[in-house]
Amino acid sequence: MGRRKKPQTKPWVCWYCTRDFDDERVLILHQRARHFKCGNCQKKLYTGPGLAFHCLQVHKEIIYTVPNALEKKNYITFEIYGMNGIPSEEEVEVAAKQLKNVMAAVSSSGAMQPVSNPLFPSAAQIMARINLLLLVAQDLGENFHLLALYLC
Ligand SMILES: [Zn+2]
Ligand SMILES: [Zn+2]
Repeated sequence: MGRRKKPQTKPWVCWYCTRDFDDERVLILHQRARHFKCGNCQKKLYTGPGLAFHCLQVHKEIIYTVPNALEKKNYITFEIYGMNGIPSEEEVEVAAKQLKNVMAAVSSSGAMQPVSNPLFPSAAQIMARINLLLLVAQDLGENFHLLALYLC
């Protein structure tokens, strides 16, 4: 029976916060608890987009960034699970640009003003959201569906 040597560095690394783990299962538990957990109801989702969908559908809230992630790694649009789906530098650059454009559009649209009743937004709020969708549609490209859900 051979003895396995323990590696010096733990092989499973969380892309969002660079913490490392002994095995993939623990990494995934960490990501769900730390990065994909809903701040409203504590439900643990499986990916950033999963969390964004949940917040839109259940809480009528747009979230733009991954909770507890490092600053240039907090893009909600990446579908990272464990160490799968880690984006290239180019993809990160594109996401950074998208986020910047979306945030600029959001702040000028008034769509993120507090909603008095999230289930029944006022006509003005609905118009603000539609305008926001039109503003960001081009920049979001395939991530447009994240915002389109806002109208559901
Ligand atoms: Zn992490
Ligand atoms: Zn929730």
